[in-house]
Amino acid sequence: MEEPRYRRVVVKLSGEALAGEGTFGIEVATVNRLAEEVLSVVRMGVQVAAVVGGGNIWRGAAAGHAGLDRSTADYMGMLATVINALALQAALEARGAETRVQSAIEMRQIAEPYIRRRAVRHLEKGRVVILAAGTGNPFFSTDTAAALRAAELEADVILMAKRGVDGIYDADPRLEPSARKYEQIEYLDLLQQGLGVMDSTAASLCMENGIPIIVFDFAAPGALRRVCLGEKIGTLVGG
Ligand code: UDP
Repeated sequence: MEEPRYRRVVVKLSGEALAGEGTFGIEVATVNRLAEEVLSVVRMGVQVAAVVGGGNIWRGAAAGHAGLDRSTADYMGMLATVINALALQAALEARGAETRVQSAIEMRQIAEPYIRRRAVRHLEKGRVVILAAGTGNPFFSTDTAAALRAAELEADVILMAKRGVDGIYDADPRLEPSARKYEQIEYLDLLQQGLGVMDSTAASLCMENGIPIIVFDFAAPGALRRVCLGEKIGTLVGG
């Protein structure tokens, strides 16, 4: 069996990754494919904690700008991540994976509360831990939740799965055909250049704790597996 490069990873799945071709809602076929990809690395012995976003359902900041109370809008966003977490859980379990959803906001009927030591125990037993409700606090993002949990759970790396973008570019490749992709970039450059790949809170947290991030295109079949085997695809931040 091929030897994975990483022992424990945090996979950040943005809400969009669950939306299929559209940008809104959940496409079951897409979630099923995501589950297959995650399972392929679990079977290699990689411990996976998945942090799910909610942007395919609700974004707090956008609603806040439109005039809704920001904290309320953000709590709504956190609830959206729980919906996504349950979809991913169902798809993984249907394929034979053992999973636990842990939520940063208690809702005991559908998820365990997030408890670091318990999450570690699940990971050690080969269960996929799906982390829902972000950090549990408004004014944060699920990217920051990924950074925070990666630090707490002592993950080797954050695998930031993007849809249709295969790394970090010096300009938006969808608008700028001459944009150049970075193979590697330092946290400070990412912060200073304001490359919109993740928010600055998340990037600073990773920098302070020395957590490398790999940004890659999740839509490419087998990409997660290749990243876990140490293939240089996407862009490495820090490391
Ligand atoms: N959110 C929050 N605190 C957190 C994580 C998320 O308030 O710790 C809210 C915020 O409103 C955000 C929404 O949840 O817009 C969805 O999360 P995010 O935008 O990070 O999802 P993604 O872009 O990854 O789909």
